[in-house]
Amino acid sequence: MILVLEKEITQDQKNNIRSILFREGYIVREMSEAGQNIIGAVGKGDKKTGFFEALPGVAKVVSISTSFKLVSRQLHTEDTRVQVGDVVVGGERITIVAGPCAIESREQALTIAREVKRYGAVLFRGGAFKPRTSPYSFQGLQEEGLKILAEVREVTGLGVVTEITSPAQADMMMKYVDVVQVGARNMQNFELLKCVGRIGKPVVLKRGLSSTIEEWLMSAEYIMSEGNYDVILCERGIRTFEDYTRNTCDLSAVPALKELTHLPIIVDPSHGTGVRSLVTPLAKAAVAVGADGLIIEVHPNPGEAFSDGAQSLLPQQFELLMDWVRKLSALENKAL
Ligand code: PEP
Ligand code: MN
Repeated sequence: MILVLEKEITQDQKNNIRSILFREGYIVREMSEAGQNIIGAVGKGDKKTGFFEALPGVAKVVSISTSFKLVSRQLHTEDTRVQVGDVVVGGERITIVAGPCAIESREQALTIAREVKRYGAVLFRGGAFKPRTSPYSFQGLQEEGLKILAEVREVTGLGVVTEITSPAQADMMMKYVDVVQVGARNMQNFELLKCVGRIGKPVVLKRGLSSTIEEWLMSAEYIMSEGNYDVILCERGIRTFEDYTRNTCDLSAVPALKELTHLPIIVDPSHGTGVRSLVTPLAKAAVAVGADGLIIEVHPNPGEAFSDGAQSLLPQQFELLMDWVRKLSALENKAL
């Protein structure tokens, strides 16, 4: 529920409201929305809304009608901006994250990072723990890969994004990276969601392969209910009957999510299509439907890539994609 506070509320009244909410087991978030002070309270206390409405300092109580609460735009009408170092995701800008599918070596990572930075990427991606369909496929360089990511940040100044596949990796993630990614296959790994909710790092939450928008938002709710509000949603394509593309990139999810949630949403047209020639067209469309950013796989030698070569752009193709993104962002009144 949302408690809209009276303009003349005193600090004592506010403290009293907060302590009652805590006592009743609510998660409490205090915000200012369109000039009004509000308290968002989420939980399953058994007191009726009338009880809270009667508290001194409360002007009115509005209940949140959706199953996701902290994530809901009803609770927080303004767009959330997630800060990663000096990069902001959300609001009036388009954030470009780029890099290889997997960190393969120090040279590979540094070469790609320098290229994508030159063309306008502001965050670097690269998997160190790779969730692969086959146990015989490359599983990632693991901690060695994370150390390379930390070096990429050191050398290029780019914040780094990588996938966490188990709560056991949390300490390593804290040490080496700026943003943790929860991959599509783990979108409903609830212990992992609670874990990333507790660690103090922004999270990219990818949409599950067969997940509905509501299930995806409930997963974001898991993270937020643990106290981490820095959640970025990532549409990366869903499973449909179509098998010409690796996945079906559901771009309608972007404007739908804009209505339902205040969280930023980025699009991954690399996994969304699985086909190199389709990545730029889908990236253009993603910007046009209101995405807050893109995550793009880039590799200088895709034929030799350890994973996802078929969907990786060459650096020159990434440069052309960035030219488009620059033009289209201007049309959307957004900065890069
Ligand atoms: C990735 O980003 O390389 C990845 C494995 O993504 P997803 O979880 O969307 O398949
Ligand atoms: Mn990949």
